Amino acid sequence: MCLFCKIAANTIPVTRLYEDDQVLAFPDINPQAATHILIIPKQHLQSLAHTTAETAPLLGHLLATAAKIAQQQGLANGYRTVINTGPDGGQTVDHLHLHLLGGRHMGWPPG
Ligand code: AMP
Ligand code: ZN
Repeated sequence: MCLFCKIAANTIPVTRLYEDDQVLAFPDINPQAATHILIIPKQHLQSLAHTTAETAPLLGHLLATAAKIAQQQGLANGYRTVINTGPDGGQTVDHLHLHLLGGRHMGWPPG
C-alpha cells in the first residue's frame, strides 16, 4: 500500500482537516507556506496523467474541495493550488494529491 493510501486508511495517523467518502485533506509534513494542505482522493490514483473518464468527476470534486477548505482556512486574499505530475513535474509521492498553499504571496513562474 502506498504512503497516501496508508494515510487514507488511517494506518498512518494524520490530522484529518476535511474528509468525506471520496477525499481527505491533511497538513503537509514539510510546509512551504503558513497554510500547506494536501488533498487526496481516498482511491489510489497514481497521478493526474492517469485520469480516465471514470475518475474525472472525482478530480472535479477534489478541486471543489480545495476551494471549500481555502474558504474555511480564511484564505480570502488568495491561494495557490498545485498538482505535481511525474518526474518533470516534481511528483515525489505516486498517489495523486493537490497542494493547497496560502498565507503568503506566491511567486511566478514556479521553480
Ligand atoms: P509532491 O512532491 O507533489 O509529490 O508532494 C509530496 C508531498 O507530500 C510533499 O510536499 C511532502 O512534504 C508531503 N509528505 C510526504 N510524506 C508526508 C506525510 N507522511 N504526511 C504529510 N505530508 C507528507
Ligand atoms: Zn495510494
